[in-house]
Amino acid sequence: MTTSKAHSQKLDAEDTLAKYRSQFYMPPGKHRAEQLYFTGNSLGLQPKSVQSYLQQELDDWARLGVEGHFHGKNPWFKYHHFFDKEARVVGANPQEVVVMNNLTVNLHLLLVSFYRPTKSRYKIIMEGGAFPSDMYAIESQVKHHGYAYDDAVIEMEPREGEHALRTEDIVAKIEEVGDECALVFFSGVQYYTGQYFDIKSLTAAAHKVGAMAGFDCAHAAGNVKLELHNWDVDFAAWCTYKYMNSGPGGVSGVFVNERHGNNADTPRFAGWWGHAESERFQMKRGFIPEPGAAGWQMSNAPVLSMAAHKASLDMFEEVGMDALVSKGRKLNAFLEQVVKDAQTVNDKLEFEIITPEKRGCQLSMLTNENGKALFDYLTANDVIADWREPNVIRLAPVPMYNSFMDVWEFGELLRAF
Ligand SMILES: *Cc1c(COP(=O)(O)O)cnc(C)c1O
Repeated sequence: MTTSKAHSQKLDAEDTLAKYRSQFYMPPGKHRAEQLYFTGNSLGLQPKSVQSYLQQELDDWARLGVEGHFHGKNPWFKYHHFFDKEARVVGANPQEVVVMNNLTVNLHLLLVSFYRPTKSRYKIIMEGGAFPSDMYAIESQVKHHGYAYDDAVIEMEPREGEHALRTEDIVAKIEEVGDECALVFFSGVQYYTGQYFDIKSLTAAAHKVGAMAGFDCAHAAGNVKLELHNWDVDFAAWCTYKYMNSGPGGVSGVFVNERHGNNADTPRFAGWWGHAESERFQMKRGFIPEPGAAGWQMSNAPVLSMAAHKASLDMFEEVGMDALVSKGRKLNAFLEQVVKDAQTVNDKLEFEIITPEKRGCQLSMLTNENGKALFDYLTANDVIADWREPNVIRLAPVPMYNSFMDVWEFGELLRAF
């Protein structure tokens, strides 16, 4: 594949999603009009439409006060119903998905329901080096149930000399742990390496030994094509401020398989917003869950945060995951080629790409002792990438607003390092 400037311009000219870039605020650079923003995996950029969605709710609050719950343009008491589109982003039935709280809080709520250890079946299999919040959530859950971490949690590491886990190795481990395995819990896309796990195979392997399968899709939602329902995943959660552009600390999405969601006996922690809607305001004792993922809600909707998410979700609906994923693949492959080409002409670029072929929009470059200097050089030149300890530079060119020319310009900077 050629990585010439002319070719980059041609790819942009052919890109049917190119028009969406102007619907986002691109952070201005010090040396160029716009930064080269490759951190949509950490905080997605702001859609320009967010302001009007927020303003609508602020206006209704100003105009109506508490009456906004029932008489606002988007009545707040049913605000969580406006997120059916979320299900299409992750491949679920609308009833299986709800938007609420923040990610780590939701992981805990889901673990309460789906990590129900017994004396003989209490082990959790997960990837080593998981995102810290997930490690802490799992650690505190197993301790909460009275188990020692090292006994209850099996962290999987790649084979010697490899950076990604092999599906066959995870499946073999699940089979080995067998009926001691209570839960298989992985990321959808691993935040550090960018590996997109084989959710379907891991779920099938978990079910074969009688375990639950849950996934943290923080880096997968809005990034890769998910089919949580068809793959029969038990539960999943994700944040919406990374690939889904819903603003810092934005709300989280939750998937509960309808098999569990429609079973009122599925254990859970409850709050009034998860109570059967028809009688939520009767203020009676005795919790009756609303069917579906909605029955896991605790509190009334954080409308301001959800309004921003609604704006973003409308764009996802318009674009569709197929088109996004298709451009994302091309853009990421182009980045890989640009980086490799730069390495052939500049021997100071001594890093290795550790992101495997099965991935979303991300390349992780494992650096050596000059890695920090490279990162600082990029930052000084208006590239927003991110540094992850101990020694990885992550780049995420996202299809919604990054262009092939962004990638080409990045390549020019690499060559000049
Ligand atoms: C980003 C991320 C989080 C962040 O959790 P919050 O509760 O939203 O702060 C957690 N887990 C993973 C895997 C992440 O990538």
